[in-house]
Amino acid sequence: MEQNCLFCKIINKEIPSESVYETPEIYAFLDINPVTPGHTLVLPKQHSSTILDTDDDLLSDVAIAVKKVAQAQMKSLGVSGFNVSINNGEIAGQKVDHTHWHVIPRTAEDGLQHWPGHPYANGEAKAVGEKIRNALI
Ligand code: AMP
Ligand code: ZN
Repeated sequence: MEQNCLFCKIINKEIPSESVYETPEIYAFLDINPVTPGHTLVLPKQHSSTILDTDDDLLSDVAIAVKKVAQAQMKSLGVSGFNVSINNGEIAGQKVDHTHWHVIPRTAEDGLQHWPGHPYANGEAKAVGEKIRNALI
């Protein structure tokens, strides 16, 4: 429990939420401002800021919970697809400093568009790939 963390307070039931799934490790509840109806936030109860400081075992638990929630959305909401996304860091759009996965049901009518891609310049992919490969070694 982190002082002044909104999602820790929600997990602790100090702030109400529309919960959809809970285990000893995980809490999942409806986003208050949904992209589409059923938009759910799935999070480890143990506070961490981003996936980088989240325990590996908890990451596995969250992945399984995300799958369960997505399956339930598909079954109950009549949607045929969903997006799973995590905003890591302010620059990536993270507003709440407690790691969370957005599970967003998708329909043909929701009007959402994917972020745009831009092709690499000649040789750029090799250079960038090499940087990342070297950092992983
Ligand atoms: P992010 O920008 O990835 O940090 O997402 C934070 C999400 O939390 C946003 O989609 C908000 O709509 C949602 N949110 C903020 N406050 C609450 C709340 N009290 N209950 C449920 N969802 C919330
Ligand atoms: Zn927290």
